[in-house]
Amino acid sequence: MFDNLNQLQRTDYCGNLSSADIGRSATLMGWVHKRRDLGGLIFIDLRDVSGLFQIVIRPESSIFQKAEQLRNEFVIGVSGVVAARDQHNINTKMKTGALELIAEELWLFNDCLPLPIQLNEAAMADEDLRLTYRYLDLRRPALQEILILRHKIVREIREFLSDENFFEIETPILMKSTPEGARDYLVPSRIQPGKFYALPQSPQMFKQLLMIGGFDRYFQIARCFRDEDLRADRQPEFTQLDIELSFCSQEQIFDLLERLMQRLFKNTLDKELTIPFPRLTYQEAMERYGCDKPDLRFSLELKDLTSCLQNCQFQVFQNALASGGVIKALAIPEGGTYSRKRQDELVELAKHQGGKGLAFAKVTDGGLEAGISKYLSAEEAASAIRITEAKPGDLLAIAADSFEMVSKVLAAIRNHVAERHGLIPPDSFEFCWITDFPLFQYNQEEERWEPAHHMFSLPKEEHIPWLDQPDKYGSIIGQLYDMVCNGMELSSGSIRCHRYDLQKKIFDILGFSESELTARFGFFLEALKYGTPPHGGIAPGIDRLVIIMSGAQSIRDVIAFPKTLKATDLMSQAPSEVSELQWKELHLKPGD
Ligand code: ASP
Repeated sequence: MFDNLNQLQRTDYCGNLSSADIGRSATLMGWVHKRRDLGGLIFIDLRDVSGLFQIVIRPESSIFQKAEQLRNEFVIGVSGVVAARDQHNINTKMKTGALELIAEELWLFNDCLPLPIQLNEAAMADEDLRLTYRYLDLRRPALQEILILRHKIVREIREFLSDENFFEIETPILMKSTPEGARDYLVPSRIQPGKFYALPQSPQMFKQLLMIGGFDRYFQIARCFRDEDLRADRQPEFTQLDIELSFCSQEQIFDLLERLMQRLFKNTLDKELTIPFPRLTYQEAMERYGCDKPDLRFSLELKDLTSCLQNCQFQVFQNALASGGVIKALAIPEGGTYSRKRQDELVELAKHQGGKGLAFAKVTDGGLEAGISKYLSAEEAASAIRITEAKPGDLLAIAADSFEMVSKVLAAIRNHVAERHGLIPPDSFEFCWITDFPLFQYNQEEERWEPAHHMFSLPKEEHIPWLDQPDKYGSIIGQLYDMVCNGMELSSGSIRCHRYDLQKKIFDILGFSESELTARFGFFLEALKYGTPPHGGIAPGIDRLVIIMSGAQSIRDVIAFPKTLKATDLMSQAPSEVSELQWKELHLKPGD
């Protein structure tokens, strides 16, 4: 009943035919997207990876009976002549909507059971069912478009970096743990009982060793594994463009990445990006936007009212100031008309961030009204309006607490308001660099210093002496940077410690004992002693880049076979049990 492909050759892809092909024969292959029987004719929308093409089977044709048996998703080949559709049959929504193929021969390669999920976007099934039948969901043009864009992005990256004298080099998947701050995925060794490999959280140490190995410029489309509790935008395995360069400054890395982004956006989306991207220090980003990944598609800046309201009698403000806190505000454009309910929603959002609440005041021609305005003198109100650059009709949302909490609360309000008020222009991409992060952060619970990014980063030149001054650890600024786009952290990197003595000091500050150091990083510290060049790098997340460039709703839409929030592959049911024998061979059961 089925035909074989034999010597039959496809001549064209459905989506590529154009009016220039009218009158010539073509052989197409693909899936029956839809079959319609109309006025004695059979119409088939044939689908392949490039798109759809309408096939017409006339009643007098020898293949008519065969065509009557076709159902959705049957796999066929068809030959015929490309023709223009009648004027009234033109489908302007379809790329090839003015054309059709008058079929002469038909081959049936395979049939298909009724699908457990619909491929039509409007009738999309629940996500778990779609993930279980991922290979069917992947037939949806929307998902195919994203994965094809992903391919184009990676191809551009490879070409660009190769032209810039980078070498693509693979590093091991079975390796020793590289710390990036997450839990490792471990692989037990069968040959060496009780020992484990770790899957790479990133190829960090290997890429630095490649610099010591003299390769000068390295990149890799690297799979990374981090065993974290999953959030909506995370996957246990993800891909990053891992980059490392010798003899380079931070500015050179910025310039390289800016030109790469410019080329990616131009060649895949036909979008012009303006470079250089704005640069903000971490401190400045926190002060102006309340977070280190500000969305710069809209302005709305946080303004500091601490000194202007230092004498204000409002108790909440007094308490915050007494414990060393700050008072900051956001002027919500035209928020003066907010109902009580809407204000309460913002208060809820503030509490959700861990804040105590928010105070409000309406801006009018004459000053401030309602909310906490009764606690403010006319001068205080006037300077609050001046500082926040608020206009009559705006609403001041004011938070008073520690700097960190105020930042967190107002950053969330800022994003929420921008979305609610439609302040985010569609199709815009606003990049920036965040620089000058602290090198260390103090973990209060564990009473120890931790690396703010990772432990291989170099302090700023002028802060290197502070590695010997414990009271200065918290003030040391690292040569660390993030690339942010539309409020998403796309990439982190740093200039590395290429000197043994400095790296050793950092490990000491982080509290590694000699034996732990030798066991975990001995080979790396040893390598630093043999002529390590100054070097630095960065690692943009490919999944996140594709999310931004495709406008995808979720990280699961940019990965061919993603996992759920429980780190399960619903299709293959990984992770799964293994046999008794495998347990034994891996020496995993106690006593074995
Ligand atoms: N290894 C870092 C990371 O995965 C990136 C880098 O510093 O190059 O975040």
